Amino acid sequence: MIDQHGRKINYLRISVTDKCNLRCRYCMPEDGVCKKDHIDMLTEDEIVSAAKAAAELGITKIRITGGEPLVKKNIVSICRRVAELEGVREVCITTNGVLLPQLAKPLKEAGVKRLNLSLDTLDPEKYAYITRIGTLDTFKAGLEAAQEAGFEKIKINAVLIGGFNDNEIPQLAELTRQYPVDMRFIEMMPMYDSGDFDERAFIPYTKVLDHLPEAVPVEHDGGVAKLYRLPNAKGNIGLISPVSAHFCGECNRIRLTADGKIKPCLHSSDEYSLKGLDFADMKAVLEEAIWNKPAWHGDLDALHRSKAGRNMNQIGG
Ligand code: SAM
Repeated sequence: MIDQHGRKINYLRISVTDKCNLRCRYCMPEDGVCKKDHIDMLTEDEIVSAAKAAAELGITKIRITGGEPLVKKNIVSICRRVAELEGVREVCITTNGVLLPQLAKPLKEAGVKRLNLSLDTLDPEKYAYITRIGTLDTFKAGLEAAQEAGFEKIKINAVLIGGFNDNEIPQLAELTRQYPVDMRFIEMMPMYDSGDFDERAFIPYTKVLDHLPEAVPVEHDGGVAKLYRLPNAKGNIGLISPVSAHFCGECNRIRLTADGKIKPCLHSSDEYSLKGLDFADMKAVLEEAIWNKPAWHGDLDALHRSKAGRNMNQIGG
C-alpha cells in the first residue's frame, strides 16, 4: 500500500508484549509495566489475523518485538504462524537475547530469519547498571546460541548514551571483526519517559565516526542505517539517526502494539485499534491507518519530546 505521501508501506513491527525481563533505564520503569487486563491484549489469533490482513495489503517484512518478545509463552507458535502467511517474506525478532539459549533453535525452525540483539555496553558492571537486572554473561550466552542456530543475519544494536557508552564505541565496533555481525549505533530518542537521561545523554550519530577513523562507507542496503565497514570486518557498522537526521521520507513501517493499536508513526499519538475486530474490519482499519501515516515525526529533541504518549516498551522498538 502507498500512503498519502507516496511512501510504500511494506514493513510491520508487532509488539507481542509490554513485559520485559530487563529494566533498561531509558526504556522501562524499575518496577516493570503497569499491569493491563489480559482481555485488553491481543490474542495469538488476533496477532496472526492482523499480520495476515497486513500481508494482504502489501506488508512483506514483519519484526516481532516488545517489551521482550521471548518472554511471551507462545512466541514460537506466533512466529511460525506469521512466517507461514502468504506474502510474508521475512520474519525477524528484536530481543535482549536473555532467553536465546532456550529459544534460538525453535525460533529458527519456526521460520525466523534474522535477529537484532540489544547491547549497550561490553562492561559487565555497566551492563548490570543500564539493564538494572541483567548480566553480560547472559547476553553472551544468547549471542552464542543465536550463532549456533544459524540465523541469516544477526545485528547488534546499541543506543548511544553520552557519558555512558560513548567511550566504548571502538570496542563495540570491534565486534564486527570478532563475529559475523553488524553493529548498529542508534541515537537515543526522547520518549515520554527516558528515565534519568536528559539532553546531555544525547549523542548525534556523526560522533561515532569520530571514534572510528578506519571506517569506510559501504553501499546502502535499503534499510534506515548509514553503513560503514572496518578493514577486515565480517559485518557492517550501521548508524541510525532518528533525531539528528530523520528518515521519515523513506519510512516504510507501521507498528502494532501488544494491546492492539496500530501506530502509523512511532512518535505520533495517532492510534487505530484492531482489538476485537473481525478480519475484514482489521483490514479496513489498517488501510485507513496506512493512508493517514503522518508525513514526519515532527521536531524531536530535549525540548520536543516524542508525542507517542507511550514508552518504547509499550510500542515496540
Ligand atoms: N526487549 C527487546 C530488546 O531489548 O531488544 C525488544 C524491545 S526494545 C524496546 C527494542 C529496542 O529499542 C532496544 O534496542 C532498545 O535499546 C531500543 N530503545 C528503547 N528505548 C529507546 C530510546 N529511547 N531511544 C532509542 N532506542 C530505544
